[in-house]
Parts: sequence; structure tokens; C-alpha cells
Amino acid sequence: MRVKLVVGNWKMNGALATNAALLDRLVSGAGAVERGKQLAVCVPYPYLAQARERLAGTPVAWGAQDVSERSAGAFTGDVSAGMIAEFGCRYVIVGHSERRQVHGETDAVVAAKAQAVLGAGLTPIACVGETLAEREAGLTETVAGRQLDEVIESLGAGITRIVVAYEPVWAIGTGRTATPEQAQDVHAFLRTRLARAGGGQVPLLYGGSVKAANAAALFAMQDVDGGLVGGASLDADEFLAIGHA
Ligand code: PEP
Repeated sequence: MRVKLVVGNWKMNGALATNAALLDRLVSGAGAVERGKQLAVCVPYPYLAQARERLAGTPVAWGAQDVSERSAGAFTGDVSAGMIAEFGCRYVIVGHSERRQVHGETDAVVAAKAQAVLGAGLTPIACVGETLAEREAGLTETVAGRQLDEVIESLGAGITRIVVAYEPVWAIGTGRTATPEQAQDVHAFLRTRLARAGGGQVPLLYGGSVKAANAAALFAMQDVDGGLVGGASLDADEFLAIGHA
């Protein structure tokens, strides 16, 4: 059975005092998360210790939003997967469109990051998705398929140990969500590709302006196993409502 998963991506937001209130509210509101279901938050690096302190022993998991593809050395400002693992993380997002667009990360770099995360015993959440121009040019499957293929080829048998998030770039932080049918179409395409590589059970998350109001309809689709949630994950009650959906 595929795991059902909702992951919050705080992006570059937070402060110790507000994080504490948010994390505590998540713990009190999450209740007993059923077997096969998971709630998690991916926080900025400086808050990993705080996430561990407040979430250890609770049903809410935590993780990071990026990682270096390298393990150690003269790479100023970078953080390795081994370092992240020391903070009890379960997940690391790789290939978020903001990393691809703002930091110029290529498909090859994203695949190398996914490999580094797996190597540290953690679960990469590999993001794929097309821009609006690419969708309008009919290139959604070409782009998302190419991004996924690089990860599949790089991980080999490790593909069974990842999570994939389909995040259309035009829906991230814009308030414009893919319709459940649009999400399902791309998820079905990605599922077929994953299944061919032995990863048919890989959880497939949808991301892009997910809110409490649209989560249930999106998550009801056959190949949507949950969500990667940006803005709405900063509001505990909204995020919990998405989790319950
Ligand atoms: C994201 O950051 O991965 C994301 C989907 O953002 P938002 O939910 O704000 O669109």
C-alpha cells in the first residue's frame, strides 16, 4: 500500500518563537496519525535542532529543504546529507523549482542530491514540474518526464525509497492550483514511468497552492498520495486541515 503523506515546506520563513508555537500546535492537533499516513515539515537548516526538540517522539516528522550533493570539504555555505541526518530528519526536498530557477540547479545536480540523501539513510522528496510556458507549449510530460528520468537513472534500485512531488511551477505560491484532473493526468504519467523502473509504490505528492479548501478534491484522485504544501504550512490550523484531508 502506498504511504499517504502531507509535507510542509516552510521555505525561508520562521523565527524561533513563532516556530515553537507552530510546531507545538501541529503536535497537539495531529492526534494519532494512522498507520500508513504521515505528516512532516521541512524547515530551514537553522531550525532543524528546534524541530527535533519539539517533534521527536510525536507523529510529526521533519526534514530539510535542500542539501549538497557532496559529502564534505571546501564548499562554503553548503550542508551535507550526513549533517542533516544528525538532526533526526526523515525527509530532504531536492529539486524544488525555486532551487532550479533561482540557483540554476540542473537535472543532474538534483539527481546527485537525491543520491546523497539516500546515501545518508534519508528519504529524498524529488520535485518535478513544468513552467506555464512549457505547459502552454504542450511540454508538460516532456519536462516532468525528463526531470524524473534523471533521478530514476541515477538511483537505480534506490528508486523505491524516494518520494516524488509533482509541482507545476505556475501553481507554486500563485494561488492558482492545478485542477484535480490536471494533477491526476500528470501523476498517472509519472506513476507509469516510476512503475517501469520498479517504483510503482513510490508516494506521489501534488504541490502548488494546496489549501484546506482544495486538498480533499486533489487527494481524492487515484494517483495523488498527498501534498507538498508551501504557504499554507505556515498556518498550523490550515496545515492540519490539509493533513486531515
Ligand atoms: C512549495 O513551496 O513547494 C509550494 C507548493 O508552495 P505553495 O503551496 O505556497 O504553492
